[in-house]
Amino acid sequence: MTISDPKYKKMLEELIKVCKQNLPSVNEDLITRSFEFSVEAHKNDLRSSGDPYFIHPYHVALIVAEELPLDDITVASALLHDVAEDTEFNINLLSKEFGNEVAEIVDGVTKISGIFRGQEITKAENYRKLLLSMVKDVRVILVKFADRLHNMRTLDFVNPEKQRRIAQETLEIYAPFAHRFGLGRIKWEFEDLSFKYLNRDAYEELVKKVAAKRKERESYIKKFGEPFTEKLNEYNLKYEINGRAKHLYSIYRKMVRRNKPFEEIYDLFAIRIILDTKNTYDCYTTLGIINQIYLPVPDRFKDYISIPKTNNYQSIHTTVVGPDGRLVEIQIRTKTMHEVAERGVAAHWRYKESKSASDKDLENWVNWIRDIFENASRDEARKDLMESFKLNLYQDEIYVFTPKGDLRRLPVNSTPVDFAFEIHSKVGYHCIGAKVNGKIVPLDTMLHSGDQLEIITSKTQHPNKNWVKFVTTHKAKTAIRKWIKKEEDDIVKAGKDIWEKKIKKFKLSFDQSDLDKLAVSLKFDNPRHMFKTIAQGKVNLDEILSTSKEKEKKEKVPVLEFNTFAETARSSAGGVLVEGLDSSVMYSYAKCCNPIPGDPVIGYITIGEGIKIHRKTCNNLLKLSEIDSSKLIPVQWPEAEANLFVAGLTVMGEDSPGILNEISHAIVSYQNTNIKSININTSDSTFEGSVTLYVHNIEHLTKIIDRLKKVRGVYSVERFEGSTSQVN
Ligand code: MN
Repeated sequence: MTISDPKYKKMLEELIKVCKQNLPSVNEDLITRSFEFSVEAHKNDLRSSGDPYFIHPYHVALIVAEELPLDDITVASALLHDVAEDTEFNINLLSKEFGNEVAEIVDGVTKISGIFRGQEITKAENYRKLLLSMVKDVRVILVKFADRLHNMRTLDFVNPEKQRRIAQETLEIYAPFAHRFGLGRIKWEFEDLSFKYLNRDAYEELVKKVAAKRKERESYIKKFGEPFTEKLNEYNLKYEINGRAKHLYSIYRKMVRRNKPFEEIYDLFAIRIILDTKNTYDCYTTLGIINQIYLPVPDRFKDYISIPKTNNYQSIHTTVVGPDGRLVEIQIRTKTMHEVAERGVAAHWRYKESKSASDKDLENWVNWIRDIFENASRDEARKDLMESFKLNLYQDEIYVFTPKGDLRRLPVNSTPVDFAFEIHSKVGYHCIGAKVNGKIVPLDTMLHSGDQLEIITSKTQHPNKNWVKFVTTHKAKTAIRKWIKKEEDDIVKAGKDIWEKKIKKFKLSFDQSDLDKLAVSLKFDNPRHMFKTIAQGKVNLDEILSTSKEKEKKEKVPVLEFNTFAETARSSAGGVLVEGLDSSVMYSYAKCCNPIPGDPVIGYITIGEGIKIHRKTCNNLLKLSEIDSSKLIPVQWPEAEANLFVAGLTVMGEDSPGILNEISHAIVSYQNTNIKSININTSDSTFEGSVTLYVHNIEHLTKIIDRLKKVRGVYSVERFEGSTSQVN
């Protein structure tokens, strides 16, 4: 048969006619060229039925034009849908001949077919997602539905094993998928045809039983309708009354689920009244008329017009007692509502388990679809919508297969390493290479939906730090980091061991803050980093420790304690002179007031401890003298060499560069005062220092204190006095 055959001419005419009936605009040239190209491409192929292969794409195109009408591009793509897969023509050629859109739809359909081939169905839900993830344009799915529908309608011609496989796939994947797309009629045909091949006995029995009841049903519907059709005519309502043929698979499912015989399920009459009106109110008028004639059954009324179902289904449901006392289920809806329910302009896509952004994408898409169907005549809007028609569902996920054909879901941009960790952490840890679709690839290769992966492992292989840079899954990242950290911990521990041995040898001790300081001063991030470098042998520990030992010595300037200071000061002053007694008299300095040279002092004679030297201002002394003033004895500091005493000061203030210099300058510049020692400790931004100096007398010291108080940044200067003013 050649293209000029009158049979083909007739077929083409028929297709264009159907297109014109259902589509808002038809590019006849595109349809004709696609038709001829497909005939030519498939000219040597036959179907299992023995028909020319072209019969199949032709019928798929008819289904698209008639049952899933969208546009002429989809019809052309349907004609060409098996060309790339089964013939020598590739996608590039199709793109040149028919444009990108057609080529991409054909490519999508081909890929989907490729994925299903040879894979066991384990989780239907995953496959539905896989299907969607592969599809950028929803028209791919519509063509795929039409393709599957025609294959199911002609399944008689393939072998029983293939029949079962295809039927099961259709029932588990395509039917629920069609339901979610709101394609109610396609869904039930998928189900009934699957049912037929999966359980032929039950199917045939049901067909017989339904046929046997048909006459009875038809006459009952007539009897039921007669009294109120007259009324409907009175109201000028245009209507259609159908006995609703429940589809076989749903009857069967009900029988199984409720464990009831066919008769009980089927005896419930179901009638549908479809009103040819745009006025929703007519549905309620009709309901009123029916309720005047037949008694409504309470609690069986549902108004899905006011509150549509989530997939946008609209209808009134009620049950009444019909003739002969039989219950009749009635649905009342407008023609538009009926179209929505049958042709699937809406979809219900609410998974219980996931409400991701992807679901929202689909919902948006469903809204587009609805608009397209409802505004089928508005070409302009339709074109815009087409532009927004690209599906990007599940764009954040890909689906890949294990060598056994199990499906694994991964985020987009995943690599073989992600896959390896997805399988098992052990596989991840020892992964050394990967095969994608049989070819060895680098480990950072980006995976795509439908890829089949095999991971090559080696016991000696371990995760590489660089893997973190390209892996995508949380699982892989965490596992690799964990491994790297453990590896690092071992190194750090080794470094720490070396360190500890060394500091023992150097007789040094470091607390945590010393360690932190040392690490920072050596330009390490932290002690851990230092230990790691030590373990790697990159650090001369001897050098570090010998300098730090020197530093330690330097840092450990003996803290000037009051007692030490007072002792020094008193002995450099030459002790006290007790009036009228020689220097051998036993005396000691009172702890209550801690007199130091320069302080006006007085002695108090004690029993056993000789003379206690107090400051004249000591409160304790005042109390003692009240009791017995006769024990007081005048004492004084001897005239020291060059009249100098040692005095101590505590200076506190804000740390700034040069503060030490300014303090010493303030002291020295006053009468050339000599400093005995000066020591400053800083912490954060403040300093605390102790100064010992030589003064002539208290006045001299007071002047120095005044001068120091004027140094910028200094906020307190006090005499170094007893335990209350110790440095540090
Ligand atoms: Mn096909």
